[in-house]
Amino acid sequence: MTTLNIKKLVRKNILELKPYISFRDNNQFKNPVLLDANESPFGEYHRYPDSTHKKIRDKIADFKNIYPNQIAIGNGSDELIDLIIKIFCEPKKDSVLVMNPSFAMYGFYAAINENEVISLNLDENFEIKKEDFLQTVKDNQPKVLFLCSPNNPTGNSIRDLEFYIKNFNGIVVVDEAYIEFSNQKSCLELINNYPNLIVLQTFSKAWGLAGARVGVAYSSEEITSLFYTVKSPFNVNNLSQNLVLEILDQVEDFQNNLNKILEERDWLNDQLTHIECITKVYPTDANFFLIEFKDVENVYAKLLENEILTSKRSPQIPNCIRINVGNREENIQLINVLNQCETL
Ligand SMILES: *Cc1c(COP(=O)(O)O)cnc(C)c1O
Repeated sequence: MTTLNIKKLVRKNILELKPYISFRDNNQFKNPVLLDANESPFGEYHRYPDSTHKKIRDKIADFKNIYPNQIAIGNGSDELIDLIIKIFCEPKKDSVLVMNPSFAMYGFYAAINENEVISLNLDENFEIKKEDFLQTVKDNQPKVLFLCSPNNPTGNSIRDLEFYIKNFNGIVVVDEAYIEFSNQKSCLELINNYPNLIVLQTFSKAWGLAGARVGVAYSSEEITSLFYTVKSPFNVNNLSQNLVLEILDQVEDFQNNLNKILEERDWLNDQLTHIECITKVYPTDANFFLIEFKDVENVYAKLLENEILTSKRSPQIPNCIRINVGNREENIQLINVLNQCETL
């Protein structure tokens, strides 16, 4: 258990900020006449959404077996990443530490807030070099550490995550956008041991709700309340809140879809081992593969010619493309084109 004082890590102006409180959402009424928010009296979606996200937080809390006041909901986890930087990083003063290669959005939001982005290169297996990590932390004293496990775009889970959490005196974010596809344990339960830990998850990937924009931050009660102080009051709309309630009532459907994706991942993995133009398929704990090709430019162009969109990672990761696991039909189309690349 660390004895970090979270208040000392928060920007002063944020500590002094009074949260915008929607009176309606923070009181209990039996049958109110709602004349307080200049809404239309007509329509199905005429009311502002619940700014406190009470129903979905209660439901997620039940599902994950933690407290609702340890859960903050964002307009996608992208919004939560933005809020973390706004809450903790003094513009032009504080820095954030990210891994390379990893998810680009950490650096993107840091740059908007004018925070320096310190980037630590992963080793050839995309693991963190512990010595480098400790030295970089010591030299630069970054305010926020972003870890992503399973990591995007490499697909591997980061080993020994607790070591980095333990050895960092600022805010540690563990982004678990792909955790459902992995056999590794979530860091969720560690939030009770580390008051400076934020675990991010999302409904965008395994849950199939990328269009609804719902992300979840699990953290100490203290950090959770900071999210609710800083966020736009009505950041998650009514339709999306309802969708999340619905989907959490259909966990079997989710599980079935997840199993199908995992089966497709195995199938695709098998197919990929027989393709000539591929030099390496990196092991993955996520719903995508990082694949190294003999001639990446030609393969990428060939895929594009066939309107198969993939994510080229070369030259940052030399000769590599990140490719999503699709449904069987999509995967067959992919394999067919890759087979045509045999001579490339
Ligand atoms: C896709 C992804 C997210 C999800 O972002 P949302 O805003 O919730 O859609 C977060 N982190 C990583 C690493 C991702 O790849």
